Amino acid sequence: MSFSLDVKREMSRIEVTEACCKKSELAGILRAGLTMRNTPDRFRLLFSTENAPLSRRVFILAKEIYGLDPGVSGRRTRRFRNRSIYQLNFSGLINDRQELLNDIGLSISPDSGEMRYMNYRVRKRCCKRAYLRGGFLAAGSISDPDKSYHLEVSFRSQLQADEYIQYLNDFGLQPRSIQRKGYYLAYLKEGQEIVDFLNVTGAHKALMNLENIRIMKEMRNQVNRIVNCETANLSKTVDASLRQTESIRFIQEHAGLDSLPDALREIALLRLENPGVSLAELGRMMEPPLSKSGVNHRLRKIERIALSMGFNTGS
Ligand SMILES: [Zn+2]
Repeated sequence: MSFSLDVKREMSRIEVTEACCKKSELAGILRAGLTMRNTPDRFRLLFSTENAPLSRRVFILAKEIYGLDPGVSGRRTRRFRNRSIYQLNFSGLINDRQELLNDIGLSISPDSGEMRYMNYRVRKRCCKRAYLRGGFLAAGSISDPDKSYHLEVSFRSQLQADEYIQYLNDFGLQPRSIQRKGYYLAYLKEGQEIVDFLNVTGAHKALMNLENIRIMKEMRNQVNRIVNCETANLSKTVDASLRQTESIRFIQEHAGLDSLPDALREIALLRLENPGVSLAELGRMMEPPLSKSGVNHRLRKIERIALSMGFNTGS
């Protein structure tokens, strides 16, 4: 099962006790999820979902709040790998119960079947959470966090998208918006923002799962960073050692190592014998031992001597 469906199943089972929040959640669901299917002889107002717990929730809310009894039908669709689609029929609202549609900020022309969205005001914070959850349940999706962080909710009108974004802003979330294939999308792309969204909408189990995945990912990145860093340091050490040994060989060929002062000759011979060890290790091999910076100082001196004798690092 997808992470998205997991989240929605959890959200569909969140217990809502306040009547105000129930109303807001249903409004969020229906505003984002109701569709008109118009044929020449009739208009149908439908809510479809592949999420069985959501279809139950919509049915129960509609019955409890408005005394509605939307017909439910289920069918298998060959698209989406034979999944079941549950359909609730709200067509009865078009002619008889326009006040209810007004209640959720919708108006439908009984003649043309044209749907219009009006503003839907939510004042209380508890209800805003419920409204945001409803919108996501009906029209949202979230990518598998193992792969990427992306959460989006798509609406049929700019007004709805702006409104949804406004309510997210009230909780400190800053979604971006985009228009795609006739839909207006609000989306979040940061792991932390998605965690905050799940918190706001009450999906705490999904939140914990996401946090665990984020921690695993972060640890993996850290390990990779350390490995990369060590590789970089290692190649720096190797480059330096190569430059030093080439300088020493150059002096050896052109003037002989005896031309060097004792302190430099000693380190030059050690370096030739131990091209792979670090400066600190070279220092420990000295008698008496020499600090890392002392070794570095002497080797730089040797390199400068080689340069003055005509050694070319590029050659
Ligand atoms: Zn409320």
